[in-house]
Amino acid sequence: MVFTIAHGLGHVLLHKDIRKSDKISSVQYRTNNWQIGSKPYEEQEADVFAAQFINA
Ligand SMILES: [Zn+2]
Repeated sequence: MVFTIAHGLGHVLLHKDIRKSDKISSVQYRTNNWQIGSKPYEEQEADVFAAQFINA
């Protein structure tokens, strides 16, 4: 729960400058790659942010 919130906060803070068109392609990338088990770079960044946020 806390991790999920921190993860979402990471997206807002880290990816707020991403343009709308890029977000759409990012979602498509995510959908296409979820099956092969590799997280999109955005998700990895948000996960790292969340881990650091919780441990801070
Ligand atoms: Zn995410």
